[in-house]
Amino acid sequence: MTLYTSRTNISEYPQGIIPMPRRQLHFAKQSISDHGLYALNNRLQTSLEIDELIEIFTAEVQRELAVDGLLYQEPSHGVDIELGTQCRHTLSYTLVLFEQSLGNIRFFRTSAFSELECQKVEQLLTALVYPLRNAFKYMQAIRSSFIDGLTGVKNRAAFDNALQREVELAHRQGTELSIVVLDVDHFKKVNDAYGHAAGDQVLIKIAKTLEASVRRSDMVFRYGGEEFVAILSYTSEEGAKLLANRVREQIAALDISELDGYQVTASLGIATVNEQDDVVSIFKRGDAALYRAKHLGRNRVVSAETD
Ligand code: GH3
Ligand code: MG
Ligand code: MG
Repeated sequence: MTLYTSRTNISEYPQGIIPMPRRQLHFAKQSISDHGLYALNNRLQTSLEIDELIEIFTAEVQRELAVDGLLYQEPSHGVDIELGTQCRHTLSYTLVLFEQSLGNIRFFRTSAFSELECQKVEQLLTALVYPLRNAFKYMQAIRSSFIDGLTGVKNRAAFDNALQREVELAHRQGTELSIVVLDVDHFKKVNDAYGHAAGDQVLIKIAKTLEASVRRSDMVFRYGGEEFVAILSYTSEEGAKLLANRVREQIAALDISELDGYQVTASLGIATVNEQDDVVSIFKRGDAALYRAKHLGRNRVVSAETD
């Protein structure tokens, strides 16, 4: 058995939380039938979604002992699942499998947990940890398939999903939504003059500049090659213009040592959602605005709405 837990049964220690030393699980006697564990194992194999696994697991725990609530948290993956109600007596475990932290799980009840009940929970946890580890791997794989390897910002596939979602949301809520499409000026020349590696550094710095300029609720994507898009939620054309101009100025002031003093610039197009817009039309207008910015001499911002 390679699952380690650190158990804390707070009701047994009214003075406060006394964490038990990390220990390997072993069971003096089998408190849950083989059949019960087998059934749980089978059910846990039906999903790779963390919230579904926790629901399946909770249902099984409730068959074995009464619990009023459960809290499962794994902060590094942003997982925070709360079921039922939190009450006075708690039983907490830190789950670690092969040195990988799988978060903390906490059970709540109005009455204290007995030793036998703790053992039952621990046996059930042994069935949970492997499917949970697989679900985290799956989550990681899904997440990285939406990330651009060079710049670390989200990629084109993520953009398509996000724009669809945000345009629908803006229509449903009647809120504003703008996009900024950015293309590096004369990037081919940068590559030709300073090499592809220097060009890559430019892309990384531009992605960072964009990410640093937008609000936390906004999203930055590498659309392809040397083209980036930002989706600005709840943002008017005016707000988008302000941001785009700030980004344009910051890019024109970037100090990129690989370029020996050559100053890279970018052109930006803006489109703000209107009632008729769908994902295709809003992007088309943003792209056409960018095209106009190029023709007007580059290193500038053009809005599809007013310019
Ligand atoms: P314009 O001002 O009209 O946008 O001119 P441009 O040279 O930027 O446009 P063009 O589309 O002709 O060139 C884009 C270049 O971007 C060509 C391609 O080699 C380069 N590129 C695309 N992806 C990457 C990448 O990941 N790294 C590097 N270094 N270059 C890339
Ligand atoms: Mg381009
Ligand atoms: Mg370009």
